[in-house]
Amino acid sequence: MAWLRNLSKFATMKRASSSSSQRPKNTDPFCLLPSFTFFSNFSTNTIEEKPCVKPVEYNNYSGLQPTRPHEKPRVVVLGSGWAGCRLMKGLDPRVYDIVCVSPRNHMVFTPLLASTCVGTLEFRSVAEPIGRIQPAISREPGSYFFLANCTQIDAHNHMVHCETVTEGVETIAPWKFTISYDKLVIALGSQPSTFGIQGVKEHAIFLREVHHAQEIRRKLLLNLMLSDVPGISEEEKQRLLHCVVVGGGPTGVEFSGELSDFITKDVRQRYVHVKDYIRVTLIEANEILSSFDDRLRRYATKQLTKSGVRLVRGIVKDVKPQKISLNDGSEVPYGLLVWSTGVGPLPMIQSLDLPKAPGGRIGVDEWLRVPSVQDVFSIGDCSGFVESTGRQTLPALAQVAERQGKYLAALLNKIGKAGAGHANSAKEIEFGDPFVYRHLGSMATIGRYKALVDLRQTKEAKGLALAGFLSFFIWRSAYITRVISWRNRFYVFVNWITTVVFGRDISRL
Ligand SMILES: Cc1cc2nc3c(=O)[nH]c(=O)nc-3n(C[C@H](O)[C@H](O)[C@H](O)COP(=O)(O)OP(=O)(O)OC[C@H]3O[C@@H](n4cnc5c(N)ncnc54)[C@H](O)[C@@H]3O)c2cc1C
Repeated sequence: MAWLRNLSKFATMKRASSSSSQRPKNTDPFCLLPSFTFFSNFSTNTIEEKPCVKPVEYNNYSGLQPTRPHEKPRVVVLGSGWAGCRLMKGLDPRVYDIVCVSPRNHMVFTPLLASTCVGTLEFRSVAEPIGRIQPAISREPGSYFFLANCTQIDAHNHMVHCETVTEGVETIAPWKFTISYDKLVIALGSQPSTFGIQGVKEHAIFLREVHHAQEIRRKLLLNLMLSDVPGISEEEKQRLLHCVVVGGGPTGVEFSGELSDFITKDVRQRYVHVKDYIRVTLIEANEILSSFDDRLRRYATKQLTKSGVRLVRGIVKDVKPQKISLNDGSEVPYGLLVWSTGVGPLPMIQSLDLPKAPGGRIGVDEWLRVPSVQDVFSIGDCSGFVESTGRQTLPALAQVAERQGKYLAALLNKIGKAGAGHANSAKEIEFGDPFVYRHLGSMATIGRYKALVDLRQTKEAKGLALAGFLSFFIWRSAYITRVISWRNRFYVFVNWITTVVFGRDISRL
């Protein structure tokens, strides 16, 4: 009777909102700051409505207060990526209240993101709402998801400072709040590396979030349509239909492969007037797919070239609105520029007053705890082992983030069940086995129903290393089983079949 529960919840909310609507109204709708109706464990420190659009200052804001000894301890998770979501999935809601803070209310299944740019998959097939990953977030009275950015961590007072994410001041101005935690897990991920090259942030599109994939798709389809309109010069047509990908790692290669499939199968049939103009260039400073061995790399190079992808070795010096300059002095005009040259720590991570690992990530010990502060853990791309552990920083991969999330969920459940879930109470607890990472292998698709699969621990080790259609089948089977929910597994499967039968959707929505 879920509908009945929802209906009664809705009736309660309506009552609550009608009582909160008693508050005085500001006549300027663009300058309202929120006046909260708080739940039982929120502080009652109401924010004044002020006639300005700036976020409320820290000395006058509200939030979730520290838990009391008879209440469930609270785990605050920063980030809703691979690490944070796997952690939340594994946390026991009977032991903890779970609070997640993130600027997006879903997890992105990144390995399939490149396929959404050209319509092989729909966007919703790769986005998993957090409420489905950990239903307690939407059901338990003390668990919440907050659409916000964490701006500051006060580890000594067990508190995080956050600022809401809004659609801009035209809707509602962002405001600040705090959350007290018993256990804090920092899983903020990373940001794309631009190596300080001018113009990258302004003119290139990254491929990390669903909105990036949407932007790429819109631009690609716009360029295709504009190049078909009378009056466009030959030179301009060539530029608009030149798709340049910078970075020859798995993401850059997979995107180039998807793009060339889209061109050979869909553009050639449905944009016959411009089919001979559209090109893909992949620029890489060294070798493409450097994490794979020589044989697989050579295979990928041959296949990409066969599909029409032009491989260029070069270093980008400068990015302008319609062209990039390379270190050899050449200029490459582009209509679409996708940047995928690896990741580095977020400025927020760099600014934190916490121990650091080599490379600027948050330093953790073997149990993924941040040393020197109580009850703080860090997982995923934003964390690395501190030097004293003697362990190497793990690669920025979903398989690392996911396994760290799983490990930490089990550890936190154990701590909570041992009665040490509240702040500063885990000092005497035996943590058990440390986290150990075992690499399961690497995979990458290269287009034309081909992929590389390397299931060896290292390039030199013995084991399975395949390329071709069988690898593509393994790649698809592996990822469809990794997709978090049955709902999305079903979507992905149906999207793949639809693409084979009817081709990719080319509507610019
Ligand atoms: C296109 C693409 C394809 C990939 N393919 C593969 C693959 O095939 N195999 C593989 O192993 N890895 C792959 N990866 C890498 C993998 O996605 C990352 O290693 C993984 O996402 C890291 O997980 P994470 O949780 O640490 O960070 P993320 O998944 O990046 O999540 C970080 C979260 O933190 C949130 N956040 C950021 N700032 C704040 C803030 N201030 N406050 C609150 N929240 C914040 C973000 O919104 C996000 O929800 C791919 C990556 C990309 C981009």
